Amino acid sequence: MDHELRKRYFEELEKEIKELVDPKTGLLDFRYAKIIPCPLCGAEIKDHETLFLKNGYTFVRCTRCDMIFTNPQVKDDYLKELYGKSCAADLWFEIQESSKEQVWKKNYYLDNINLILKFCPNKVCRLLDIGCSSGYFLQLLENYYKDKIRAVGIELNEKAVSYASNKGLQVRKCLLEDMPKEEKYDIFTLFGLLEHLPSPKHFLQQIKDYANPGALIFAIVPNAYSLYHLFLQQKSVSFDGRNHLLYFSENTIKQLFQGSGHEVIFNDTILTGLDNIKRHIQWYDPYGVSIKTDKYIPWPMQAMLNEDYIYRNNLGLRLRLLAKISC
Ligand SMILES: [Zn+2]
Repeated sequence: MDHELRKRYFEELEKEIKELVDPKTGLLDFRYAKIIPCPLCGAEIKDHETLFLKNGYTFVRCTRCDMIFTNPQVKDDYLKELYGKSCAADLWFEIQESSKEQVWKKNYYLDNINLILKFCPNKVCRLLDIGCSSGYFLQLLENYYKDKIRAVGIELNEKAVSYASNKGLQVRKCLLEDMPKEEKYDIFTLFGLLEHLPSPKHFLQQIKDYANPGALIFAIVPNAYSLYHLFLQQKSVSFDGRNHLLYFSENTIKQLFQGSGHEVIFNDTILTGLDNIKRHIQWYDPYGVSIKTDKYIPWPMQAMLNEDYIYRNNLGLRLRLLAKISC
């Protein structure tokens, strides 16, 4: 069920992504596109090396700061519209609600909130979950941390907002900049958000307007230099071009936070993607979930293909970072 939904989601996303491509050139239609300088260091296009093309999108790396991103990118207005209402966005919401996903996610989110709370000195905190989808994380906070955390979420997808509101969760359909400035928070959570943003630095600086002294930002993004991405490269579903605009490394995500004036106090990587990697290196479909064998993996590679090696070397599938906001 979960696998089928995911398959439908990625098929729908691919269809939507191709709708913005000019059939004559096979590239992102210039009517929807804009050329950008490096979103991390501002370097111009002459310093961007092309890594690969996929679905009409061009993936580049800045030779000055190592940031990987798509260029050109879909214009901001089209992006906002797509996030508000699209079949793929609605299917993503359904995945968030599917039962199998929730079992996995419960431990994932509880681990993360426990980590954040270790660094949060306040007895009672106000938390803003940005890009909260259907409010699964907010619901967990309500169930397990009601006395400690007062949580609010913001989200653009209409279906997700109405679902979360019907459950009695505090969720608003807006962007950060639409929030009233009198509202202040102690913790900001960004689960899988930063990689979608055209101007991540501006966004991280904007957060300061809503922060109490000593507030924290917690972020999780895909790790471009994970073992998973080093093996799968453009085969990875993470490289879609339209939704994921930015691809961070341990170094570039730190640079982004530090360059926005925040102090990084913790970072590591989580999740391994080992099953996908193992299938891929045996020439199977990395996402073919029914295939489970190690038979064709040369034995010297086994040393690399384990959790301990991956986590010890920060090669996990996602980067996790906690920063203190300097106001
Ligand atoms: Zn750069």
